[in-house]
Amino acid sequence: MEMNAAKVLIDGPSELVFDYAIPESLGEVAVGCRVRIPLRNRNSTGTVLEVGPAPQTNFTLRPLHSLIDPEPLITPNLMKLGKWLSEYYGTPMEQVMRALLPESVRQDAHSEKTRKVVVLESMPDEEALEKLKKRAPKQHVILTLVKAAAGQISLADLGGGSVTASVKSLEKKGFVSLKSEAVRRDPDQDQEFMETSPLKLNAEQEVALTEILKEPKEGETKKPILLHGVTGSGKTEVYLQAVQHHVDQGKSALILVPEISLTPQTVQRFKSRFAALQDQVAVLHSHLSQGERFDEWHRIRKGEAKIVIGARSAIFAPLKNLGIIVVDEEHENTYKQETSPRYHGRDIAVLRAHLESCCIVLGSATPSLETYQNTLKGKYTLLNMTQRVDNQTMPIIRVMDMKIEAQKQKGRLAILSDKLRVSMEAKLKEGEQVILFLNRRGFARALQCPPCGHVCECQHCAIPLTYHRGDERLICHMCGYQTITPNKCPACGDKAIKLQGYGTEKVEEVIRKVFPQSRIARIDTDTMRRKNALRDTLAKFKAKKIDIIIGTQMIAKGLHFPNVTLVGILNADLGLHVPDFRAGERTFQLITQVAGRAGRGELEGEVVIQTFTPHSPSIQFARHHDYVGYAEQELQFRGQFGYPPFTHVAMLGTRSTHERRAEFTLQNLHKRLKANLPAQIEMGEPMPSPLTKAHGQYRYQLMLKSNSARGLSQYVARVLKQTPPPEDVIVVFDMDAMSFF
Ligand code: ADP
Ligand code: ZN
Repeated sequence: MEMNAAKVLIDGPSELVFDYAIPESLGEVAVGCRVRIPLRNRNSTGTVLEVGPAPQTNFTLRPLHSLIDPEPLITPNLMKLGKWLSEYYGTPMEQVMRALLPESVRQDAHSEKTRKVVVLESMPDEEALEKLKKRAPKQHVILTLVKAAAGQISLADLGGGSVTASVKSLEKKGFVSLKSEAVRRDPDQDQEFMETSPLKLNAEQEVALTEILKEPKEGETKKPILLHGVTGSGKTEVYLQAVQHHVDQGKSALILVPEISLTPQTVQRFKSRFAALQDQVAVLHSHLSQGERFDEWHRIRKGEAKIVIGARSAIFAPLKNLGIIVVDEEHENTYKQETSPRYHGRDIAVLRAHLESCCIVLGSATPSLETYQNTLKGKYTLLNMTQRVDNQTMPIIRVMDMKIEAQKQKGRLAILSDKLRVSMEAKLKEGEQVILFLNRRGFARALQCPPCGHVCECQHCAIPLTYHRGDERLICHMCGYQTITPNKCPACGDKAIKLQGYGTEKVEEVIRKVFPQSRIARIDTDTMRRKNALRDTLAKFKAKKIDIIIGTQMIAKGLHFPNVTLVGILNADLGLHVPDFRAGERTFQLITQVAGRAGRGELEGEVVIQTFTPHSPSIQFARHHDYVGYAEQELQFRGQFGYPPFTHVAMLGTRSTHERRAEFTLQNLHKRLKANLPAQIEMGEPMPSPLTKAHGQYRYQLMLKSNSARGLSQYVARVLKQTPPPEDVIVVFDMDAMSFF
């Protein structure tokens, strides 16, 4: 007899997976169902990952005991989404399921928190009440308190354990009853949100909102929308009103933001606007406790929370009847998950909107080229907002050539150009505020000549070669080309070609010397370790208790400080010359976003960019606020070298504490992949990662390229299955990789 079996992910930290037979008496057992199972000689619980014919084994499978709840926890649409994700990214369904059902939801330990409440059943008459007052004064007090609290009060509020006996007596007499009530663990319970009302939209916002709310024609599905609006054009207000519209119609809404802790202002705006519906808003992020996550997740599943704001993984929130999905700052890298399953939250959002037949809006001041290209192809609708609200002008951007500064400041490390220093003095004197920004990416460094700015590049791939100090080599991390480090600059012949670099700490030291009167704060991962440190520092800045902020990427996003009139970008080259074909795009985005922090109030803003390569397109187009111009030339470059969005690039990597094992395993995989390599797949050579060692593990990697992501993933997944790595080597496959370190 053909018997069905279930693959079950066992609850618990070790995340074991075992097969179980499905007894006929259990009826239908679906993927995503919670089950009770025998495990060794005890009972346990788990989640069904897969259902199918029993595997061929020479022992009999043990049967499932029972279903914990008959309904699977995952909606059919989310299940479809998971299947697609598994195929597209070449990730086993088992790992996808872990993303669909967060651990806190899979485990019973975090089930609902309850509290005891005392409910008034009937009030004794005057006479009985008097008697009670004399004989059992405590019971009398309790009764009056319950009555005063509109007939219901928590046991804790009455005094907890000390009154239990009296309450029990009252219950026996039929005056009150003791009940259990679920309490929500509300992560924001200590915060108050003042309700805000919708603003009157300007003409551009009005056009955008109308288009977003337009119903598709009969039988057609609505195309995804890219809302390309300059910084400060009022995109968030458009999202808020679009969400309002769908919620008014009884639908639910999902808002993805890059990272909750870095976008506190956006979250606050949503919470405030929907303050009247507070119980219907859920916020999902990585700092929730397991219990809070459990509660929020189930509130969403039961339809109690209709508006969900969250980071990447919130895309799997079990919302029903979705009306709209918003992906704010859709170009952000943080939407890509850097552990398995390595999905891209934005791409999954587009697919989910398609499956749910709902509206999706991707918003950005600097859209990713992938998304922009989709508007050019007509797959997405493009909406533009070109003006800042309230007629604020875009800031003036000046570019300082640090080669000239380096000559002027002979021998000293040129951190601050004269122009930036003079501008800072002027603004600070007026009581205005300054942000200094340093893009710091520690390890992967290119070789740049300080006198002339020349950067050594790979002639095949047009990306900077990475300097490996150990053996003085320059390596191309796309194709594997290698060369010896030159001892003088190939362009100008100067011997000063060498690494240049300084961090935020050094900058702080210099700035404190130059501006001894100013109040200065530094924001980077080192100084912001303490919980709420970022929130507190930003609050101080807002209250004008800080004059100058020196920060890394952490301050580039979504901040709105009307009194900031000057932004300095200290070394724009740091992000530009890294071995990544997206380096230019990132630099353009970063400059535009950081510049967008200046001049958001009445006062005009100014931006000073310091760079050794002032003519680089990412800097020049950003300077002229010309996204379209930038996108056009960048797309041309991508097309010419066969990079995304025209192809899909994936990374295959190995990691091990034994360097040789990591290397050997990848070489072996490379050989196997090469043996039957389909014609449409291009493969590079195995080589050490630019970040050669991290967390005690050596890293090797190779790049793959193809027109078909699925084809590539399926091919690699098949070879990986046939070539299991040694115990002490981890293999990583990253489709549509966003980071090549
Ligand atoms: P973006 O998200 O495009 O950067 P925001 O939505 O943050 O822009 O808007 C910038 C500022 O302008 C916010 O303080 C916002 O409250 C305000 N704002 C947005 N729309 C309007 C409007 N129609 N009228 C007045 N102020 C607005
Ligand atoms: Zn190359």
